[in-house]
Amino acid sequence: MAAETPDLMFPVPEFSDHPIPTATIPEVQGEMGPVLDVAILFAALCLASYFTLVSRSRRNVLLLTIASLLWFGFWRQGCVCPIGATQNVALAVFDPTYVVPLAVVAFFILPLVFTLFFGRTFCASVCPLGAMQELIAVRSVAVPRWLDHSLGLVAYIYLGAALIFAATRTGFIICRYDPFIAFFRLGGNTDMLIFGSCILMIGVFVGRPYCRYLCPYGAILRVLSCFSKWRLSIPPGTCINCQLCEDACPYGAIHPPTVAQTPGARRRGKRQFGFALIASPFLVAGFWWLGTTLAVPLAQWHPESRLAEQMRLEELGIAETTTDASDAFRGSPRSVDELYQSALTRRNDFVTLGGLLGAWTGLVIGFKLIYLSVRRRREDYQADRAGCVSCGRCYWYCPVEKVRLGLISDVSEALPAGRTPTGPLVQLTAGGKKP
Ligand code: SF4
Ligand code: SF4
Repeated sequence: MAAETPDLMFPVPEFSDHPIPTATIPEVQGEMGPVLDVAILFAALCLASYFTLVSRSRRNVLLLTIASLLWFGFWRQGCVCPIGATQNVALAVFDPTYVVPLAVVAFFILPLVFTLFFGRTFCASVCPLGAMQELIAVRSVAVPRWLDHSLGLVAYIYLGAALIFAATRTGFIICRYDPFIAFFRLGGNTDMLIFGSCILMIGVFVGRPYCRYLCPYGAILRVLSCFSKWRLSIPPGTCINCQLCEDACPYGAIHPPTVAQTPGARRRGKRQFGFALIASPFLVAGFWWLGTTLAVPLAQWHPESRLAEQMRLEELGIAETTTDASDAFRGSPRSVDELYQSALTRRNDFVTLGGLLGAWTGLVIGFKLIYLSVRRRREDYQADRAGCVSCGRCYWYCPVEKVRLGLISDVSEALPAGRTPTGPLVQLTAGGKKP
């Protein structure tokens, strides 16, 4: 039998009365476009790392943030971006027939490599989504620690769901629910415009809500940042424990010095650690079971399952109108039984995948409980390895940094009235060295 041409398999639908919408994806830039994008990303990462760790210039970090927002956000319209590239890479890993462009791979890998060396400098001033939120974080309030930790788990669960949906060709949900894409493209779905506006409004009072509680790529960067070779230090020299950096950080990413523990508190800490350790396997098992029960709703996200459901409703006469997808299906050589069988296979797949997503959720919660139950001793204010986005606000306010820059001659000049530092108050000469 002669092979059917694509035209016969999928007849061209009749769209003569369909208004052609304005393109909402960036124009192809020619062969050099992706190379230019990668070169600019690399240069921006180098500059961000230099500004945050070496020159420690909050002003330059801010200027680079604005430039990145204009280039990667509004000019390149948020595409290609490392956050979305996570899905392309996941699909390429699970489906060898999917070809992922090298530029997309580079966008995915470069920020990860830089994070392993320098911390989250990508988040500091290169990511356009982070930049958008950075510029509006003007009246941030402190989020209670328990709420901050709980909401922070959502990003990891979202990451797991996004990888599963991408690997099964169910959809690229990170791109579909990118809160700022409608702003970058100056148009888009009303629901996404509303979602993006809500994130921005919340972002005025809660620093970087998308970065802290939703971004799946940020979840990977948080983990890698814990192992980074170099990272931002708040004072350039001795910390005087004045607390100004903690007040300045809008992201709750600074830990204060710890106090000596009483024997009772130490015993309580040990009990909590033991409880977290024992509870973790049960959490994994419990969420695995919960995940398997979500197979049907999860599978409904897959286009094949949605089409099968639509065909079923049409065949039963429940659906009053057909859809473009069901019309196109009727014009294809596939039978309805084949479609139902395919949808059933998807549902069975999602029993396993839902279980995996559930187990991942349990693992993340268990790990968080263990992490929180381990007490770390600190003698001064320190940036959280995972949560610090290297924005540089803290050292901008740090009196020791101001002495280093020669802006003041004594740290006491920068302290608010009534603020008494509890650390070793040393007189620093310009240059940050002890006299
Ligand atoms: S956390 Fe995500 S959105 Fe925020 S700056 Fe980092 S990569 Fe961008
Ligand atoms: S650089 Fe400082 S102010 Fe910025 S997120 Fe890190 S700890 Fe907070």
